[in-house]
Amino acid sequence: MKPRIQYTQPSISELEVQYVTDAARHGWGPRCYEYIERFEAAFRRHLGVKHAIATSSCTGAMHMGLAALGVGPGDEVILADTNWIASVAPAVHLGATPVFVDICQESWCLDAARVEEAITPRTRVIIAVHLYGNLCAMDELLAIGKRYGIAVIEDAAEAIGSEWQGQRAGSMGRFGVFSFHGTKTMTTGEGGMFVTNDDELFERVLSLSNHGRVKEQTRQFWPDLLGFKYKISNLQAALGCAQTERIDELIERKRAIMAVYRERLGHLSGLSLNPQPEGTRIGAWMPTVVFDTALGITRERLLSRFVADNIDARVFFYPLSGLPMFQGRVPAAGGHSASIPERAVNLPSFHDMTDADIDRVCGVVEALHGEARR
Ligand SMILES: *Cc1c(COP(=O)(O)O)cnc(C)c1O
Repeated sequence: MKPRIQYTQPSISELEVQYVTDAARHGWGPRCYEYIERFEAAFRRHLGVKHAIATSSCTGAMHMGLAALGVGPGDEVILADTNWIASVAPAVHLGATPVFVDICQESWCLDAARVEEAITPRTRVIIAVHLYGNLCAMDELLAIGKRYGIAVIEDAAEAIGSEWQGQRAGSMGRFGVFSFHGTKTMTTGEGGMFVTNDDELFERVLSLSNHGRVKEQTRQFWPDLLGFKYKISNLQAALGCAQTERIDELIERKRAIMAVYRERLGHLSGLSLNPQPEGTRIGAWMPTVVFDTALGITRERLLSRFVADNIDARVFFYPLSGLPMFQGRVPAAGGHSASIPERAVNLPSFHDMTDADIDRVCGVVEALHGEARR
């Protein structure tokens, strides 16, 4: 059996070990927030935003952000049908109704034209999720948001390193959220970040994140409103500080792996990889192949070849409208969110993978593609 190729795996250097060890030894009592504050400051600088609040997960950051916007029962929240459930669950927990919209065939992200068709007087928020590090059409979405007075927010969990017209993903919407789960480009084990340039929204989320204790309150243990508990720990933040110091290196490696896949597979007919349209740069969190229907290559066929070669790959997200809790909420038209996952697969792309690993992955794809064309 050939050695296993994982699909993701964090890059942990001596720096991470050193910071976490220091936090474990000294980061308590009066110093219990030191790494958290450092982490937030470093992330703010990286992203070029005014405010950042580190959280225990991206889902928690999203939950607080939507709550701070006042999202609740009777409100509709628009997002792409192609998504991980984490992007929609917080809205549902707040009592809002999700409205799923089809994706663009090219970007695999929310189709802005269809967003406009889905707007009703109850629409409160548009969630722009930059799927696999690909970019949503932010100009169009922000313009729609402005025209209808609807908040556009960014789930940039998969889009560290992605840029739209020189602006970083997560920095353009009313707020942005990030994930530092172990599979993401940078990790804290579990963790997330809420970012915004809006002073008032920042204050609200800060209070919510601290069990509803507002900044001005001088009484101890006195919550002024019902909040949440989605804080990150100092230990995780220590890991985050090291990863943020290495963020350019981590992103560059993702892009380099993507570039090799593009060089090897990009010319194959009927096969598409993550697009990078004019004016964008992607962080390439998850290199993904999509086969044209005409090739007849299904996800199952490619995955079984990968299994036979001891390569770990992943399925493209199933449409949310097909999950049991959202049965029947199928987007109005298009059908891309149902069709694309059946002929798409995420390829391995971890920091320390070797050229030989990438070669093995490409070899499997090329062989199957060659057979399909015969
Ligand atoms: C990973 C991910 C999340 C969830 O992140 P957690 O930190 O696990 O809560 C949310 N949205 C997207 C787009 C993700 O990829």
